[in-house]
This record gives sequence, C-alpha cells and structure tokens, in this order.
Amino acid sequence: MEIREEYRIALEVCPTPLMLASRDGNIVLCNRRFAELFGYQDGELHNQCVDVLVPQEIRDAHPELRQAFFEVPTNRNMGTGRDLYGVRKDGELIPVEIGLDPVTSDESTLVMVSILDIRERKMGEVKIRRAIDAASSAMVMIDEQGKIELVNEQANRMFGYENQELIGDKIERLVPERYHRKHAVYRTSYQNTRDRRSMGVGRDLFGLKKDGTEFPVEIGLTPLDGADGRLVMATVIDITERKENEKNIRRKNEDLERLNHELTEFAYSASHDLKAPLSSISGILELSETDLENGDLEEVQTNLSRARMLAQRLSGRIEDMLTLARADHLDDVMEDVSIPDLVSEAAQAVQGQFSLTPGLTTAFAHGDPVRSVPARLSAILENLLANAYKYRDPEKTEHRIHIETWDEDGAIKLAVEDNGIGIPEDHLGKIFKLFKRVANSNEPGSGLGLALVEKNLSHLGGGIEVVSSREGSCFTISLPQDHKTPVSEQPAQKLEVAK
Ligand code: ADP
Repeated sequence: MEIREEYRIALEVCPTPLMLASRDGNIVLCNRRFAELFGYQDGELHNQCVDVLVPQEIRDAHPELRQAFFEVPTNRNMGTGRDLYGVRKDGELIPVEIGLDPVTSDESTLVMVSILDIRERKMGEVKIRRAIDAASSAMVMIDEQGKIELVNEQANRMFGYENQELIGDKIERLVPERYHRKHAVYRTSYQNTRDRRSMGVGRDLFGLKKDGTEFPVEIGLTPLDGADGRLVMATVIDITERKENEKNIRRKNEDLERLNHELTEFAYSASHDLKAPLSSISGILELSETDLENGDLEEVQTNLSRARMLAQRLSGRIEDMLTLARADHLDDVMEDVSIPDLVSEAAQAVQGQFSLTPGLTTAFAHGDPVRSVPARLSAILENLLANAYKYRDPEKTEHRIHIETWDEDGAIKLAVEDNGIGIPEDHLGKIFKLFKRVANSNEPGSGLGLALVEKNLSHLGGGIEVVSSREGSCFTISLPQDHKTPVSEQPAQKLEVAK
C-alpha cells in the first residue's frame, strides 16, 4: 500500500512512538521513536508483522484480537485494567500503554498504534509498593464504596489472605458479620468528616481472619484524596498480645489486692491470737513470783507447767503460721502421684498425733496416678484427716472416717467423711478463713488448717466443698486433671491404722 509522503513526515515529527499497521498485522510505517523504543534501527520494522512486538504468551491469540478490532474499528485504549507489555528486539519486556485509532483511506482501513512508555511510572509504583509492604503495620486502602483497592503484605498475613485475593472485595470481609450493618453506616458517615483519626474510640474493635477467627484490633484512618477519588487508608494493628497482657496485669492486680487484704487480716489475727497466750504466760509468771515470795513451791510448780504448755501451744501456732506462709512459695513441680499412697502416709502421720484412732476405710475409684504436687496434696490430706480425728463425737461409740475418690467431669474428686460432731450451719462459710474456729470442741487448734487446705487447693487449681450435720461432716475436694492414666478398677479397700 502506498503511503503518502506527508504521512511519513507527520509521523516522524510527532514526539510519540507511532506505528501504522494493516489488517493482516503488517507494519506499514513507524516513526524513529517507535523503532528506538523497541530497539530497532530506523526502517528495520518496515513490513514486519506486529506480532514480533507482542509478548510470547499472547502472540498466538493476537491475530484474532486484531481481526476483532478491524470488525468494529473505533478509537480506544488497549487492554484497559490489564498490564500491557511490548517486546524489544533484545527480548526485554517493557510496560506500555497502547492507543488504537482506525485510519480509513480509500482503499482500506489501517490502525494507528500509539505507545506510551510507562517504565518510569511502573518503577515509581514498585517503589511505593515496596515501601508499603515494608511497613510494620497492616494497611488496607478502600474507595468511597468501601471496596478494597490495596492491601499490603502485613495485612494479607494478618488476615490470612494471599497476594491480590482481597482486591475488589468489600472491606466488611475483614469485619465479623455481627458488625457488618453498623460498619457500613460508620463508613458512610466517615466519608462526610474524613478526618485523620483512630477508629471506634471507646469501642472494642475486632478483625476477621479468612479462617473465621476473630482478633482484637486497633485501626487508624487517613483520608487520601487524589486522582483516584476519595480513598481512605486504614492502618490495622493486631492487639491480641496487648489485650492478653492487660488481662494478665488486671488479674495480677486483683491477686495483689487479695493478698494484701489477706496479709492485713493475717497480721491482725496473728497478733491477736499470739497476744492472748503471751499475756496468759506473763500473768502466770507474775503469780509465780508472788507464790515464790510466799514460799508456795507447789503452786509455783503447777503454774510453771501451765506456762510451759501455753508456750508450747504458742510455738505450735507460730509453726502453723509459717507453714501457711510457706504454702505460697512452694515449688509447684507436677509429678505422677499415687493418691492411695499419699492417703496412707497422711493417716500414719496423723494417727501418730492422736491416742484414739478411729477406723479409716477407703474406696479409690479414680484414675491413678494423678499429676499433682505431692507436698500440697499431702498437706491437704493431713489437715482434713487431722480434723476428722480431732472433731470426733465423744458420745458415739464408734468413730468412723471414710475416704472415697472418683472421676467427675475431667476432675478428680476426693471426699473425707466422718461421723464426728459436725459443724453448725452458720459456721460453714467461715471455717476456711484464717484463725476461724467453732467453739464446740475442746480440741486444741489454731484455725489455720482449713485455710492451708484452701490455699494449697487454689495453687493446684482445685476447690473444696463441705456438707455437715449432727451426724458428721464431709469435705470434698476436686482436683483438675487433664493428664491421667486410664482408670484401673481399684476395689474399695480398708486401710487399717495401727491401734
Ligand atoms: P483448727 O482445727 O486448728 O481449729 P481448721 O481451720 O482446721 O482449724 O478448722 C476450723 C474449724 O472448723 C475447727 O476449729 C472446727 O471447729 C471446724 N472443723 C473442721 N473440720 C471439722 C470436722 N471434720 N468436724 C467438725 N468440725 C470441723
């Protein structure tokens, strides 16, 4: 086809790379800028097929696309929304924007192809992308309708998505469903203010991961106005760890408050409790001085042994207090322990303290051994058994203590039941408190035993319940047990304690 010389001159002086091609893809004419852009000598592309300038992967489909253009030839940009590349003579791919304009002459229709070299722009975009991906916060950019335009690597990682998976979706995809409606309203009203601020001040905000899990977040909003419209950049911070730490601090503060309260109560009760026997001792000694002056040696003798007994009791109380104080500082190393063995040891230790030894029976039906801290379990068992021995009913001829264990809802239960004097109902809630005793027995005690039981149980994550009547008392402890060997059917056995 003959090209008029004026065309040639016009193309040559134009600053844009231009090329004129025929319906069959033949390059009829191109200017020097076009040839240079693609790495060819001036005139080298003449009569070559345009397909040499098209990337390999779409080269086969290109003739068909070309035909489609010539069937409805209109001015348009090629491949809107897609990244287009041209192939240079040396094989390098260069990002381009391509304009197509039909040129109709008497004989036929040609297409004028204008090329915009966008390498620099792309390079700038890559730099910005890298900077956004390198940011330590997760970033999500949305348009006025709440459609996601950009997601950086951190955000993809935080919400569990890949590359471009979220692009084009509504931002509500990252918000738990129960907040969707409200969120859309907040989003629309934000578009009216468009101030730079934190989102949801005073409210707890949650993000939704791809796998459906929710996590607490903090979100900063920055409006971005530009050629692309009124965009908003949301910066998201996962605050799961912070929330967890806050919870721990709150729990520790509560613990501290409780311990502080306990300490004050302890100091008050301890001084009160220790002062009484001390003043008795001091009184007795004063009396003894007078008796001594009067030469009443027999009375002195009696008083001194009373004072010694009181001093011994005092020393016992101080020992109990030390045991209680130490209970908070035991090394909680979990071990496999056998409850029947511990019960037997506790029974031996306790029966050594009492002249009268009620019959002790046991029925173990839990999974043994259990994971626990032996020192704590022993202290619990010894105190419960000691009380069951101490608070026996002198009016009953037979004194019985029965220990039973069983598994219940993932916990191990252990009950110590006696047929002793029982605990009046109005005292049941108080007996676990420091120094609290019931004045229905002459048995010596400090009122610390059950406090120690409760303290040890709380370290083991367990609990205690008590039921009591005139027939006797039953203390049932429960120990959490996530690891245990299968229940071996253990027949109820009678544990004989030496009489
Ligand atoms: P202590 O035995 O040194 O007084 P505890 O804290 O062990 O202190 O017990 C508190 C009180 O609870 C006891 O004084 C007693 O009145 C009552 N108590 C505890 N165990 C029993 C029991 N098995 N039967 C009757 N009363 C009991």
